Amino acid sequence: MRKTIIAGNWKMFTDVDEALRLVSDLKAAYKNKNKIEVVVCPPFTNLESVYNKIKDTDILLGAQNMYFEEKGAFTGEISPSMLKSVGCKFVIIGHSERREYFKESNELLNNKIKTALKYNITPIYCVGEKLEEREAGKAFKVIEAQIKEGLVGFTAQELKEIVIAYEPVWAIGTGKTASPAQAQEVHAYIRGLLATLSDKKTAEEITIQYGGSVKPDNVTELMSQPDIDGALVGGASLKADSFLAIINY
Ligand code: PEP
Repeated sequence: MRKTIIAGNWKMFTDVDEALRLVSDLKAAYKNKNKIEVVVCPPFTNLESVYNKIKDTDILLGAQNMYFEEKGAFTGEISPSMLKSVGCKFVIIGHSERREYFKESNELLNNKIKTALKYNITPIYCVGEKLEEREAGKAFKVIEAQIKEGLVGFTAQELKEIVIAYEPVWAIGTGKTASPAQAQEVHAYIRGLLATLSDKKTAEEITIQYGGSVKPDNVTELMSQPDIDGALVGGASLKADSFLAIINY
Protein backbone atom coordinates (compact mmCIF):
# COMPACT_ATOMS: atom_id res chain seq x y z
CA MET A 1 0.00 0.00 0.00
CA ARG A 2 1.43 3.36 -0.93
CA LYS A 3 1.59 6.11 1.67
CA THR A 4 -0.65 9.16 1.70
CA ILE A 5 1.44 12.24 2.44
CA ILE A 6 0.24 15.82 2.84
CA ALA A 7 2.96 18.46 3.01
CA GLY A 8 2.75 22.19 3.64
CA ASN A 9 5.16 24.39 1.70
CA TRP A 10 5.54 27.64 3.64
CA LYS A 11 7.66 29.14 0.84
CA MET A 12 9.40 32.43 1.82
CA PHE A 13 6.72 33.52 4.24
CA THR A 14 7.55 33.00 7.91
CA ASP A 15 10.17 34.65 10.11
CA VAL A 16 11.02 32.73 13.30
CA ASP A 17 8.22 34.28 15.42
CA GLU A 18 5.61 33.68 12.71
CA ALA A 19 6.78 30.11 12.18
CA LEU A 20 6.63 29.39 15.91
CA ARG A 21 3.13 30.84 16.11
CA LEU A 22 1.97 28.77 13.13
CA VAL A 23 3.46 25.52 14.36
CA SER A 24 2.13 26.11 17.90
CA ASP A 25 -1.39 26.68 16.53
CA LEU A 26 -1.02 23.57 14.40
CA LYS A 27 0.16 21.48 17.31
CA ALA A 28 -2.54 22.74 19.69
CA ALA A 29 -5.38 21.58 17.43
CA TYR A 30 -3.55 18.71 15.72
CA LYS A 31 -5.55 15.62 14.88
CA ASN A 32 -4.67 13.14 12.20
CA LYS A 33 -7.96 11.43 11.55
CA ASN A 34 -6.76 9.67 8.39
CA LYS A 35 -3.44 8.51 9.92
CA ILE A 36 -1.48 9.93 7.01
CA GLU A 37 2.04 11.37 6.96
CA VAL A 38 1.96 15.10 7.65
CA VAL A 39 4.95 17.25 6.74
CA VAL A 40 5.69 20.94 7.18
CA CYS A 41 8.36 22.66 5.07
CA PRO A 42 9.34 26.00 6.60
CA PRO A 43 12.13 28.26 5.30
CA PHE A 44 15.69 27.19 6.21
CA THR A 45 15.94 29.77 9.01
CA ASN A 46 12.90 28.28 10.80
CA LEU A 47 13.76 24.59 10.47
CA GLU A 48 15.41 24.09 13.83
CA SER A 49 12.89 26.04 15.88
CA VAL A 50 9.97 24.31 14.16
CA TYR A 51 11.62 20.91 14.68
CA ASN A 52 11.92 21.59 18.41
CA LYS A 53 8.14 22.13 18.54
CA ILE A 54 7.13 19.07 16.51
CA LYS A 55 9.69 16.48 17.58
CA ASP A 56 7.31 14.99 20.16
CA THR A 57 4.48 14.68 17.59
CA ASP A 58 4.10 12.68 14.39
CA ILE A 59 4.39 15.83 12.25
CA LEU A 60 7.50 15.54 10.10
CA LEU A 61 9.89 18.22 8.91
CA GLY A 62 10.87 19.01 5.34
CA ALA A 63 13.04 21.63 3.64
CA GLN A 64 12.14 23.49 0.46
CA ASN A 65 15.42 23.01 -1.38
CA MET A 66 18.92 21.59 -1.01
CA TYR A 67 22.21 21.57 -2.90
CA PHE A 68 23.50 18.32 -4.40
CA GLU A 69 27.06 18.61 -3.11
CA GLU A 70 27.77 17.24 0.34
CA LYS A 71 30.06 20.07 1.47
CA GLY A 72 32.46 22.65 0.08
CA ALA A 73 32.88 26.19 -1.13
CA PHE A 74 29.30 26.75 -2.33
CA THR A 75 28.43 30.05 -0.68
CA GLY A 76 24.79 30.34 0.24
CA GLU A 77 23.90 26.71 -0.34
CA ILE A 78 22.59 24.13 2.16
CA SER A 79 23.74 20.50 2.21
CA PRO A 80 21.79 17.32 2.97
CA SER A 81 23.73 16.69 6.20
CA MET A 82 22.84 20.20 7.37
CA LEU A 83 19.18 19.39 6.75
CA LYS A 84 19.50 16.10 8.61
CA SER A 85 21.15 17.83 11.55
CA VAL A 86 18.03 19.97 12.09
CA GLY A 87 15.59 17.08 11.84
CA CYS A 88 14.54 17.10 8.16
CA LYS A 89 13.07 13.88 6.80
CA PHE A 90 11.87 15.38 3.49
CA VAL A 91 13.08 17.91 0.96
CA ILE A 92 11.13 19.52 -1.88
CA ILE A 93 13.13 19.24 -5.09
CA GLY A 94 12.38 21.13 -8.30
CA HIS A 95 9.42 23.21 -7.20
CA SER A 96 8.22 25.16 -10.24
CA GLU A 97 9.38 28.39 -8.59
CA ARG A 98 12.92 26.95 -8.47
CA ARG A 99 12.67 25.80 -12.07
CA GLU A 100 11.35 29.19 -13.20
CA TYR A 101 13.31 31.76 -11.13
CA PHE A 102 16.51 29.82 -10.47
CA LYS A 103 16.61 27.97 -13.79
CA GLU A 104 16.94 24.54 -12.18
CA SER A 105 17.16 21.88 -14.87
CA ASN A 106 16.02 18.25 -14.82
CA GLU A 107 19.70 17.24 -14.80
CA LEU A 108 20.50 19.35 -11.73
CA LEU A 109 17.38 18.04 -9.99
CA ASN A 110 18.43 14.46 -10.75
CA ASN A 111 21.67 15.15 -8.87
CA LYS A 112 19.79 16.67 -5.94
CA ILE A 113 17.49 13.63 -5.71
CA LYS A 114 20.53 11.33 -5.79
CA THR A 115 22.17 13.13 -2.88
CA ALA A 116 18.94 13.34 -0.86
CA LEU A 117 18.48 9.55 -1.16
CA LYS A 118 22.07 8.98 -0.12
CA TYR A 119 21.28 10.82 3.13
CA ASN A 120 17.92 9.09 3.65
CA ILE A 121 15.99 12.28 3.08
CA THR A 122 12.81 11.69 1.08
CA PRO A 123 12.79 13.93 -1.98
CA ILE A 124 9.43 15.36 -3.04
CA TYR A 125 10.13 15.80 -6.74
CA CYS A 126 7.86 18.40 -8.37
CA VAL A 127 6.75 18.21 -11.97
CA GLY A 128 4.09 20.06 -13.91
CA GLU A 129 3.33 22.01 -17.03
CA LYS A 130 2.88 25.76 -17.53
CA LEU A 131 -0.37 27.18 -18.86
CA GLU A 132 1.05 27.85 -22.34
CA GLU A 133 2.37 24.29 -22.51
CA ARG A 134 -1.06 22.90 -21.61
CA GLU A 135 -2.76 25.15 -24.15
CA ALA A 136 -0.29 24.07 -26.84
CA GLY A 137 -1.10 20.41 -26.14
CA LYS A 138 2.40 19.83 -24.74
CA ALA A 139 1.61 19.04 -21.09
CA PHE A 140 2.31 15.32 -21.37
CA LYS A 141 5.57 15.85 -23.30
CA VAL A 142 6.85 18.30 -20.68
CA ILE A 143 5.97 15.95 -17.83
CA GLU A 144 7.52 13.01 -19.64
CA ALA A 145 10.84 14.88 -19.91
CA GLN A 146 10.69 15.99 -16.26
CA ILE A 147 10.06 12.42 -15.10
CA LYS A 148 12.47 10.65 -17.46
CA GLU A 149 15.37 13.11 -17.10
CA GLY A 150 14.83 13.91 -13.43
CA LEU A 151 14.56 10.26 -12.43
CA VAL A 152 17.12 8.69 -14.74
CA GLY A 153 19.49 6.16 -13.19
CA PHE A 154 17.53 5.08 -10.12
CA THR A 155 16.82 1.49 -9.15
CA ALA A 156 13.27 0.34 -8.46
CA GLN A 157 14.04 0.41 -4.73
CA GLU A 158 15.27 4.02 -4.98
CA LEU A 159 12.23 5.08 -7.00
CA LYS A 160 9.99 3.77 -4.21
CA GLU A 161 11.74 6.16 -1.82
CA ILE A 162 10.87 9.21 -3.95
CA VAL A 163 7.61 11.13 -3.68
CA ILE A 164 6.35 12.82 -6.84
CA ALA A 165 4.27 16.00 -6.69
CA TYR A 166 2.26 16.85 -9.78
CA GLU A 167 1.81 20.60 -9.68
CA PRO A 168 0.39 22.22 -12.80
CA VAL A 169 2.10 25.61 -12.74
CA TRP A 170 -1.10 27.38 -13.79
CA ALA A 171 -2.77 26.14 -10.60
CA ILE A 172 -0.09 27.23 -8.11
CA GLY A 173 -1.14 30.22 -6.03
CA THR A 174 -3.76 31.18 -8.61
CA GLY A 175 -6.90 29.80 -6.98
CA LYS A 176 -7.38 27.64 -10.12
CA THR A 177 -7.29 23.95 -9.32
CA ALA A 178 -6.99 21.19 -11.87
CA SER A 179 -10.33 19.39 -11.84
CA PRO A 180 -10.13 16.03 -10.06
CA ALA A 181 -10.49 14.34 -13.48
CA GLN A 182 -7.72 16.47 -15.05
CA ALA A 183 -5.41 15.74 -12.12
CA GLN A 184 -6.24 12.02 -12.15
CA GLU A 185 -5.48 11.82 -15.88
CA VAL A 186 -1.97 13.23 -15.34
CA HIS A 187 -1.34 11.17 -12.19
CA ALA A 188 -2.22 7.97 -14.06
CA TYR A 189 0.08 9.08 -16.90
CA ILE A 190 2.93 9.71 -14.43
CA ARG A 191 2.39 6.29 -12.86
CA GLY A 192 2.63 4.77 -16.32
CA LEU A 193 5.93 6.60 -16.91
CA LEU A 194 7.24 5.38 -13.56
CA ALA A 195 6.40 1.83 -14.65
CA THR A 196 8.55 2.29 -17.75
CA LEU A 197 11.45 3.35 -15.51
CA SER A 198 10.97 0.30 -13.28
CA ASP A 199 7.98 -2.03 -13.39
CA LYS A 200 4.23 -1.84 -12.76
CA LYS A 201 4.42 -3.13 -9.20
CA THR A 202 7.05 -0.54 -8.24
CA ALA A 203 5.05 2.27 -9.87
CA GLU A 204 1.98 1.24 -7.85
CA GLU A 205 3.93 1.83 -4.65
CA ILE A 206 5.08 5.37 -5.42
CA THR A 207 3.24 8.23 -3.73
CA ILE A 208 2.10 10.92 -6.18
CA GLN A 209 0.85 14.11 -4.54
CA TYR A 210 -1.26 16.77 -6.23
CA GLY A 211 -0.43 20.44 -5.69
CA GLY A 212 -2.04 23.63 -6.95
CA SER A 213 -4.54 25.65 -4.91
CA VAL A 214 -5.53 22.72 -2.70
CA LYS A 215 -8.04 24.02 -0.13
CA PRO A 216 -10.34 22.50 2.49
CA ASP A 217 -13.25 22.64 0.05
CA ASN A 218 -11.58 20.79 -2.86
CA VAL A 219 -9.28 18.35 -1.07
CA THR A 220 -11.83 15.56 -0.52
CA GLU A 221 -12.70 15.21 -4.18
CA LEU A 222 -9.05 15.35 -5.24
CA MET A 223 -8.09 12.73 -2.67
CA SER A 224 -10.85 10.41 -3.84
CA GLN A 225 -9.08 9.91 -7.19
CA PRO A 226 -7.36 6.54 -7.45
CA ASP A 227 -3.90 7.87 -8.33
CA ILE A 228 -3.82 10.92 -6.03
CA ASP A 229 -1.96 9.98 -2.87
CA GLY A 230 -1.70 13.25 -1.00
CA ALA A 231 -1.13 16.92 -1.53
CA LEU A 232 1.56 19.56 -1.58
CA VAL A 233 -0.11 22.65 -0.17
CA GLY A 234 1.18 26.21 -0.43
CA GLY A 235 -1.07 29.10 0.60
CA ALA A 236 -3.53 27.02 2.62
CA SER A 237 -0.71 25.58 4.76
CA LEU A 238 0.07 29.03 6.18
CA LYS A 239 -3.03 29.01 8.38
CA ALA A 240 -3.29 26.26 10.97
CA ASP A 241 -7.06 25.86 10.61
CA SER A 242 -7.05 25.42 6.82
CA PHE A 243 -4.05 23.05 6.87
CA LEU A 244 -5.72 20.99 9.62
CA ALA A 245 -8.95 20.86 7.62
CA ILE A 246 -6.95 19.62 4.62
CA ILE A 247 -5.11 16.89 6.47
CA ASN A 248 -8.37 15.73 8.05
CA TYR A 249 -10.17 15.70 4.67
C1 PEP B 1 2.93 25.07 -3.89
O1 PEP B 1 3.58 26.03 -3.54
O2 PEP B 1 3.52 23.99 -4.07
C2 PEP B 1 1.50 25.21 -4.09
C3 PEP B 1 0.84 24.19 -4.57
O3 PEP B 1 0.93 26.42 -3.77
P1 PEP B 1 -0.63 26.74 -3.63
O4 PEP B 1 -1.24 25.66 -2.78
O5 PEP B 1 -0.69 28.08 -2.95
O6 PEP B 1 -1.21 26.77 -5.01
